[in-house]
Amino acid sequence: MKDLVGAVGNLNFGSLVSEDDFKQCFAHDFMYGDTTRNWPSKTLLIYRLGEDGPFECEENERGADHAEIVLLKKIRNKIENRQTRTLVTIYISYSPCSKCSEILGGFIGKNKKRCKLKIYFSNFYLILRISNVQLIGKRHMEGLHNLRQKGAEIQPVIGEEMWKMFLKANRVPENDQGRWLVVAASQNRQVREKEDKKIFDLLFPETDNETDDDISVRYICFVIFTLIMYLLYAHIN
Ligand SMILES: [Zn+2]
Repeated sequence: MKDLVGAVGNLNFGSLVSEDDFKQCFAHDFMYGDTTRNWPSKTLLIYRLGEDGPFECEENERGADHAEIVLLKKIRNKIENRQTRTLVTIYISYSPCSKCSEILGGFIGKNKKRCKLKIYFSNFYLILRISNVQLIGKRHMEGLHNLRQKGAEIQPVIGEEMWKMFLKANRVPENDQGRWLVVAASQNRQVREKEDKKIFDLLFPETDNETDDDISVRYICFVIFTLIMYLLYAHIN
């Protein structure tokens, strides 16, 4: 019996993103500004509705929809028909472009009570750092800001712990993960991830993390405070 349990435990039902696609699309080490290499035209994502349950995989349709829009077409009805708020977790190989950010932002803005969005991406899409204080890629940066303001959580995949989360979501058995983690932790990739961290910090400084929800709460607190002060003043006089 113990052998049977062990055998079942060792079965590999297959990852959603293949090892090749992982190397070429998710965990590559291309450096910003290096025009000698072609960035992958394929965008892959894995996603899950809810806190548990399996992840599923989607990709962009060449010359047509980006991966985020392919996903949205799949989940829109499911989300809109749910009564409870559903967490949508996405691991994607590029950060959403300006257009996808606008469409995703519109969707979560309209479905605030039904959906919360978490996006982990492994490469910035057309956002580059050109100095310690300056980034380029205005449209795409504004898109990410807009998306975050609508309440989405956005994080670049950086470091072993986050890659382990990705591998678990991607159904890579624990005893196979070492091989994948070596790719994600290559020296060049580590340099790239340090750069990603700098870009992310410039893009979202600590003081710039307010979502629409935060602003609403602050506004309500302000109104209550003003009302109390008014009542106190009226009482004293
Ligand atoms: Zn897009």
